[in-house]
Amino acid sequence: MTPHPLRRTALVLTLAPFTAFAQTAPDRPNIVVFLVDDLGWQETSVPFHTEVTALNRRYRTPNLEALAAEGVKFTQAYASAVCSPSRVSLLTGMNAARHRVTNWTLRKDASPDTPLKGVTPPAWNVNGLRALAPGETLPPETDAPAPGRFAVATPLPELLRAAGYRTIHCGKAHFGALGTPGEDPRALGFEVNIAGHAAGGPGSYLGEKNYSAAWRTSPPDHVWDVPGLDAYKGTTVNLTEALTLEAVKAMDAAVAAKQPFFLHLAHYAVHVPWEDDARFIQKYRDAGLKGTPAALASMIEGMDKSLGDVRAALRRLGVEKNTVILFLSDNGSPSQCPANLPLRGHKCFPYEGGTRVPMIAYRPGVTPAGTVCRTPVLIEDVFPTVLALAGADGKPAQPVDGVSFVAKLAAPAAADPAAAARPLVWHSPNHYGYTPFSAIRIGDRKLIHHHVSRKLELYDLAHDLEEQHDLAARHPELTRQLAAALTRTLRDRHAQMPLDAQTGAPLPFADAIAR
Ligand code: CA
Repeated sequence: MTPHPLRRTALVLTLAPFTAFAQTAPDRPNIVVFLVDDLGWQETSVPFHTEVTALNRRYRTPNLEALAAEGVKFTQAYASAVCSPSRVSLLTGMNAARHRVTNWTLRKDASPDTPLKGVTPPAWNVNGLRALAPGETLPPETDAPAPGRFAVATPLPELLRAAGYRTIHCGKAHFGALGTPGEDPRALGFEVNIAGHAAGGPGSYLGEKNYSAAWRTSPPDHVWDVPGLDAYKGTTVNLTEALTLEAVKAMDAAVAAKQPFFLHLAHYAVHVPWEDDARFIQKYRDAGLKGTPAALASMIEGMDKSLGDVRAALRRLGVEKNTVILFLSDNGSPSQCPANLPLRGHKCFPYEGGTRVPMIAYRPGVTPAGTVCRTPVLIEDVFPTVLALAGADGKPAQPVDGVSFVAKLAAPAAADPAAAARPLVWHSPNHYGYTPFSAIRIGDRKLIHHHVSRKLELYDLAHDLEEQHDLAARHPELTRQLAAALTRTLRDRHAQMPLDAQTGAPLPFADAIAR
């Protein structure tokens, strides 16, 4: 895809001063964001719960164990409950309520929402993320639908690139719809795009199938074809391995050019289709697993090998002590997967099984080895954190809801009164895999607002991580307070609510229900 001519001009204007900066600041860290797709909270051999669970014992992720042994394990890290909202939050620092890419994207101007009797989805940003053009200013935020149904922002890689970083995307992108600028990561500030496009899943993980679904679809469906990777198509190389080999080549090139790099290694794994990774499947079959559970286990180990290979490459290149690694997932595991007990629910759900994700950060020389951070963090927090790590001082055009957790990397267990009072908010006015909902967590109390049933549920996560005991009826005042805080936060962010199909009126916010 050809860059927009205006964007090319902007690059020429900004490169000169930043090149000079690059020469005077050789120690800026490389940053690797290792983003796994649909990996549940318990789907690693690293326990993120207070005890080792059956799933921890099932899966083998030795490289993630090694990373945890050197870094900080975040046991209360959260994403949105589905792909695109999380990915747009990571790239913009905005919460999904504000950026309004509240469901997954693919077709231009089309919503994948499942029909729901009596309710229609709001005019959410079905076209995904678009970078603010040079000279363009963001319009003031309003409750009206966004022009073109885009979230518009200064994306993270654009700010890093302006600060002298080589910005590399490798793997699943899923930022913008087909036929829109954001379908190509290079239109969002990534200098290099390896195998990323509009689709949120691969046709296949098998090189023999050209990473395409055409062989099992009639008529052949090519929308899920993984772009690029031509050298691997027709071979036996698993997609996860091909992405890793290409990511390593891109790191080699950045180091050879003496340029700090930002690698967004966003694996398609372990999203559907669940296909055996031939390198690892036998041991799981020997352990008695069959079908999808065995395939998923083999894919998880393939993803973990990738982490190990990336770290080996960093060592070979002599940059391992100057590279920050942030490992996380973009949402919980799908409902076809085993439950991430003790968590309730799955991908798309408002419960912890939908939103709580595994996350580990390693900053050499800074993170105390083998430590745990129990402070909740949200995926939009990655944006200000990475900017802080890079020392990038460019200002994004959009308001940033994320809060930097860079201090947690040095002092993961330090008391944090601000975090304890911070409202964490999730917002999905869409019907896809679950009915429309919003949720808020302050401290250990969590309120879920089911938009259509107009029901509020209150949970105490400190004593009921399983979300089995709804306390709303017993604690009406607390329910009212959380409903008010949720409503205030959503209104501040100009969040959209689903609409009554007959009247076209938005369904009520939580404060109108908590009476
Ligand atoms: Ca996902």
